[in-house]
Amino acid sequence: MRLVVRVKLLPTPEQATALEATLRAVNAAACQVSRQAHALRTFRNYDLRKHTYTQIKDGYGLAAQAAQHVIKKVADAYATLQANIRAGNLGKAGSARRVRAEATPIAFRAEAAQPFDDRCLSWQIDARTVSIWSVAGRLKNLQFAASAEQLKTLSAYRRGESDLLYRDGMWFLIATCDVPDARVKDPEAFLGVDLGIVNIATTSGGVRHSGKALNAVRHRRRELRRRLQAKGTKSAKRLLKRRRRKEARFAANTNHVIAKQIVTEAERTGRGIALEDLQGIRDRVRLRKPQRVTLHSWSFHQLGAFIGYKAARAGVAVIYADPAFTSQQCSSCGHVDRKNRLDQACFSCTSCGFAEHADVNAARNIAARGVTGWAVSHAA
Ligand SMILES: [Zn+2]
Repeated sequence: MRLVVRVKLLPTPEQATALEATLRAVNAAACQVSRQAHALRTFRNYDLRKHTYTQIKDGYGLAAQAAQHVIKKVADAYATLQANIRAGNLGKAGSARRVRAEATPIAFRAEAAQPFDDRCLSWQIDARTVSIWSVAGRLKNLQFAASAEQLKTLSAYRRGESDLLYRDGMWFLIATCDVPDARVKDPEAFLGVDLGIVNIATTSGGVRHSGKALNAVRHRRRELRRRLQAKGTKSAKRLLKRRRRKEARFAANTNHVIAKQIVTEAERTGRGIALEDLQGIRDRVRLRKPQRVTLHSWSFHQLGAFIGYKAARAGVAVIYADPAFTSQQCSSCGHVDRKNRLDQACFSCTSCGFAEHADVNAARNIAARGVTGWAVSHAA
């Protein structure tokens, strides 16, 4: 399994200046390569190198490897554009959007991310430092912050290139790690997970992960957007963009913590994890504003993905269950009735009298469906 580890760099002011100059140089070089690629109708890495390598290496003071990465970055960007055009993502042939995309060379932001390979970037993981090439010379002892789990993953499984990224005044390295999957243990039972908005995740074991903090952050940003959108100034837009990314980081962090707790609970008790199949999430999460649905369904998918990879690493089985009527069905007797669900939090069966928190009841249904689903798919 391939996963990425993102660490925050802690550069000194001098190092930060050098990093900034480096990103500016490589992206100015990328823009030049892109213009030439577009003019010459030459988009393959190897061909572009013949035309541009010496020019950008000397013109922008790039190391040999850095120059090659710039050219590859441009070639990759055009390959992606071509794939998008072929897939019809930019409209039909002749559409205004597609014509514009084909008529102008791809531009790279001055702060666009840049890949570094092992010759341009070396990691001293125990010391939490990296040594990285820059236009101002090699930067040594550049410190980074990482969790114990990230350090472990980095030292055991980091492979190939890492991306240098600048976001909202902070520097990051995004390292690629090839983590082997653990052998999936045959589960004795399943831990069901119900996803929601009031409670982001509730397990059939009765653990509820509240969405209160996350919903508060979202609410604050929506309020801010409402106030700033009226202004429509550039600085307002910039502030909103920064807030949006901050919210996304907060949501991702929340999802990581929840996913870890769920996988740990399943691992400790020898159970697999039953998740809702999210195909139907849009129908289930009924809210007035469609963008909220998109936001939440995106967040649910992320949580599902985090649980998926953490489970794979731990050898915990994961199965996806049909979520239809999990909130209306009694997890004790199986009776399905809309009236079973009294309100957001309370479930009380009209047939057998079983009562439970509504989300826990739903999670228990998902767990039961996981058991059935596993038996069916592992019958042979
Ligand atoms: Zn019942």
